[in-house]
Amino acid sequence: MTWKIHGHEGAVAYLKEQTQPEKIRHAYLITGPKGVGRRTLAKAFVKALNCQNPPAENDFCDECTACRQIEAEAWADLSILRPAENSRELRIDQIRQMQQSLALAPYQSQWRVVIIPDFQNATIAASNALLKSLEEPPSRAILILTADARENLLETIASRCGILRLRPLSVQNCAQVLQNTLQLSDEEAQRLAHLSGGRVGTAMRYAQDESQLDQYEDALAQLLDILPQSKRARLQYAETLSKSKGNQRQNSAFLLSVWLTFWRDILITQSQAGLPLVNLRHESALKTLASQLELSQIESILKAHEKGLEQIDANVNPRLIIENILLNIPRLKV
Ligand SMILES: [Zn+2]
Repeated sequence: MTWKIHGHEGAVAYLKEQTQPEKIRHAYLITGPKGVGRRTLAKAFVKALNCQNPPAENDFCDECTACRQIEAEAWADLSILRPAENSRELRIDQIRQMQQSLALAPYQSQWRVVIIPDFQNATIAASNALLKSLEEPPSRAILILTADARENLLETIASRCGILRLRPLSVQNCAQVLQNTLQLSDEEAQRLAHLSGGRVGTAMRYAQDESQLDQYEDALAQLLDILPQSKRARLQYAETLSKSKGNQRQNSAFLLSVWLTFWRDILITQSQAGLPLVNLRHESALKTLASQLELSQIESILKAHEKGLEQIDANVNPRLIIENILLNIPRLKV
């Protein structure tokens, strides 16, 4: 592991090279799903550029004043440009303001760096304004954009950036990281790795926030509650869900990712595969359910969940997705 980053070796190697003054670019774009480590990687790059006590070439110590201030987002030559409070979008006036400050010389280092997280949420006007900084970059400025996917940005922006694509780790690797860094039990690490789909940042948040795990158990309880019920009751459930507060897409994605861990466990139980269960504490319910289903039925339920998660990403109505999944699961005794 280098740069204290788990996985993403290719991206780290590329950025390490980029710390050389003759290689460095004025703009980078880091893409990948939320929680995969985009901002951590961006900050590591800034640390490597500024560390006062690097243990090796292109590396950083994470202990000196510069490293600590960068980590805390308190380094004078680093700013993070986020949407204004209560807004999801980054607006053109924010970009203009950033451009004015970017034109000034750095305070205390070689480079002024601006990290703009989730640039897919910028308005078109803001995107067009940013283009100017990419076409005629100030000499000592570096922009680091992050986004969910390159396709969600103007191509004129993406094509002017050095691009790094981050993918989640495998569930096994993610669980290993959790065990090593947070000293979690094997069961707990497996559960969080599955739940986060291999996104280490997300998994760590679950591990450090008890309420997230309460939500997990609550999502499972809802599934166990709905399985013995009729189609009509299931439709009602999907409707109630669609009226609950919060972000519908995020809530539904969470629900499906939790249910997915449960159905995987049912598959493991039914096929006697001997693999570790994620939801060990529900072992008796898993056995009861597995005994009522054919292997092929479980497989098709699993596929439906995976497809549902993809559809949520593709902006399909979450209520329809949940309805469709629930109506295709037979009525079961729990
Ligand atoms: Zn340092």
